[in-house]
Amino acid sequence: MARKPAKKTAGGNGGVGGPVTGTHSIVRGIDPYLPNNGNTGYRVSRYDLEIDYKVPSNRLTGRATITATTTVPLTRFCLDLADTMKPTKVSVNGRRVARFAQRRGKLEITLPGELPAGAAMTVGIRYGGPPGPIRGQWGEVGWEELTDGVLVASQPNGASSWFPCDDHPASKASYRLAITTDSPYHVVSNGVLVARSTSAGHTTWVFEQAAPMATYLATIQIGQYEYLKIADKPTPIRAAIPARLRGEFARSFDRQEQIMRAFTHWFGPYPFPQYTVVVTDDTLEIPIEAQGVSTFGANHCNGSHDSERLIAHELAHQWFGNSLTLTRWKDIWLHEGFACYSEWLWAQECGSGTTQGMAARYYRRLASSPQDIVLGDPGPADMFDDRVYKRGALTLHALRVEIGDANFFALLQDWTARYWHTSVSTENLVSLASAFSPHPLRDFWQRWLYEKPLPPLPVLP
Ligand SMILES: [Zn+2]
Repeated sequence: MARKPAKKTAGGNGGVGGPVTGTHSIVRGIDPYLPNNGNTGYRVSRYDLEIDYKVPSNRLTGRATITATTTVPLTRFCLDLADTMKPTKVSVNGRRVARFAQRRGKLEITLPGELPAGAAMTVGIRYGGPPGPIRGQWGEVGWEELTDGVLVASQPNGASSWFPCDDHPASKASYRLAITTDSPYHVVSNGVLVARSTSAGHTTWVFEQAAPMATYLATIQIGQYEYLKIADKPTPIRAAIPARLRGEFARSFDRQEQIMRAFTHWFGPYPFPQYTVVVTDDTLEIPIEAQGVSTFGANHCNGSHDSERLIAHELAHQWFGNSLTLTRWKDIWLHEGFACYSEWLWAQECGSGTTQGMAARYYRRLASSPQDIVLGDPGPADMFDDRVYKRGALTLHALRVEIGDANFFALLQDWTARYWHTSVSTENLVSLASAFSPHPLRDFWQRWLYEKPLPPLPVLP
């Protein structure tokens, strides 16, 4: 799913306004849905983040080393960085940069001399402050204090709440994340834990995320968690949960391995080396996905299977959203439609319903809702509207009816394999689907993606 965790806390930051030293800034958004996020002039290939965080005082000190390549001759460039995170020292290719300015979520860096296009650029930034969520039309996203710990859920534009970045999903990079915090806390982040060391009451956790990752999927989870080994095959599954919820977790999350096996069968190999589920001690409005990690609230872990559809939904995002990531936010249905359809597929597999029954149920709901959204370009305000999720899933169901089961599931496998760990667009899917269809799909896509009225309910033969 996506959006903000509802758990609110006494927030840590005091709404600090950014001091401005520059007289102007380069703000060149690359996506009309998020015009202030993302930057031009370079491509990032790696983030090396060293984060020191004090839970009681909500104080973050960071050191970011960003490896990039210029795409044009460059004298100035921007990174996204929330105004609460103050840069104290900036260097490029080992040389200290004297001219940098921060304003309205942008850190503008002026190079001492021009770099040619295609030049290697290593940007070092020391920064710090009291991290807090970024407020916008999708609620609060990014760094979030819990009652006793931290959660980071950044979709769509919260990543700059805790590290300087080129904050756009098409800008994927590998990561090394080293997080130091008080020893009683357990830290979960993306990728694989490669080192852990403790000294003087502090523990440093080092994670390596080799597969390319979009900025919004980078996460840090800190809490007094018990760490459990759930399964080793076909994919290592781990859990970080409050000890008090051990019994409820064992019942509510008992079919994760089965869901993993079903999804691997339908969608191809799981895209990352490990999958970790975090259950916070706090209540969350909705679960959220990160790369290799999903986060649920204590309320999703009540000993029943009430949240199993959400468990399936978040796991499906590892393929649809995290491995295959949209290039532009208008294609959000490529994440949410697929994740929602995965719920419906799992409903049939586990015997709680049929995929056709789920389709019919949500079709009725959509039919009685305003039909004023264009699925292929819903607009930023409706990007996370439930109708996008459900019509997205219905569009896949309709495609399945249109081309038949054998073609549909072969297409899913080819889709996830061909675009493994890359960026995708609706056009990519439309083009690939044509190879799996016995007849042209132009009118089909037009009706489902680009016209507002709901087409007739698709029914499996
Ligand atoms: Zn989702």
